[in-house]
Amino acid sequence: MNEASEPLTDSLGRVHTSLRISVTDRCNIRCYYCMPADGIQFLPRKQLLSFEEIERFVRIVAPMGITKLRLTGGEPLVRCELPTLVRLLARTPGIEEIALTTNGLLLAEQAGDLRRAGLDRINVSLDTLDADKFKRITRRPGLEKVLAGIAEAQRVGFDSIRLNAIAIRGETEPEIVPLLEFALAHQLHLRFIEYMPLDGDGAWKSDQVLSGERIREIVEEHFGPLEPAPRDDASQPAVDYVFGDRSGLIGFIHPVSQPFCGQCDRLRLTAEGQIRNCLFSIEESDVRDLLRSNADDDPIAKLVRDCVAAKKPGHGIDDPRFLRPAKAMYQIGG
Ligand code: SAM
Ligand code: SF4
Repeated sequence: MNEASEPLTDSLGRVHTSLRISVTDRCNIRCYYCMPADGIQFLPRKQLLSFEEIERFVRIVAPMGITKLRLTGGEPLVRCELPTLVRLLARTPGIEEIALTTNGLLLAEQAGDLRRAGLDRINVSLDTLDADKFKRITRRPGLEKVLAGIAEAQRVGFDSIRLNAIAIRGETEPEIVPLLEFALAHQLHLRFIEYMPLDGDGAWKSDQVLSGERIREIVEEHFGPLEPAPRDDASQPAVDYVFGDRSGLIGFIHPVSQPFCGQCDRLRLTAEGQIRNCLFSIEESDVRDLLRSNADDDPIAKLVRDCVAAKKPGHGIDDPRFLRPAKAMYQIGG
């Protein structure tokens, strides 16, 4: 085994097998927990990695053990011709799964092409089924389009679609039961994700985090006892439960109240070609510069390996010395 094909293991023995690729920092909505309402300076087009640059990066990291990719952003479906990137990545040796996280607004138009290009899985972010509330949270209309996107994705053959809903105290509680009923009716796997200090306005407060524990209480009041679901992938951050006659599956991602850093197997590539070893990294490693200066594969592989080796044990949100990253979620790639 040569240097370039050794597993990407950090100093704590965490082996990295998954890569989140942000393809843009732009978005067609403005969720208040992610982006500021206005005054956003988006990256100029030439600063974004091209599809060929992303493909080359993936070709270099796949032999190092990266098998799973997730395309995200910003909103990945606003990047022109995304199915072309999916097609390039799907034929990369070693890549076993390509997933997408989307707000779903453009999904009805693109689901078929994405499926044919080789996309395996889709997560749709949806916080409410109330059109007015959707508009208040996202500062744009569009709930109907998201619902049409989910329906079209299922029609073209995507099964096991996940719905991701943010968990914010005072916001999410009334959405829990309607979202679960919707998920049950449409065979979707709903997961609640605790609000993290990555909002574009820098307004996050720890008491705004609605814990999974509180959501479970609300679910149990309505649907009866939850039972832990078998865990088939230990690196998955979600803790799943079955409910409602055992036909429903609900998941909780608790990055704040129960961090899962010990099992983290993720590496991130931002839209402008910076590698991050954590969502909350303060530092990034510039791979775009190497990709654009005709560097060989070896220095790129070394940069990735050094970045993984420098990974901290945890994000430290609960540490009084915690420093928020300078970038918000839409700039990192959630
Ligand atoms: N635009 C796509 C979407 O919304 O699915 C992909 C990018 S978005 C940044 C990815 C995920 O991050 C979404 O599920 C969103 O709810 C979540 N997210 C954004 N800001 C967050 C925050 N401050 N805390 C927790 N999750 C957040
Ligand atoms: Fe856009 Fe996704 Fe951020 Fe909402 S969470 S503003 S959809 S990038």
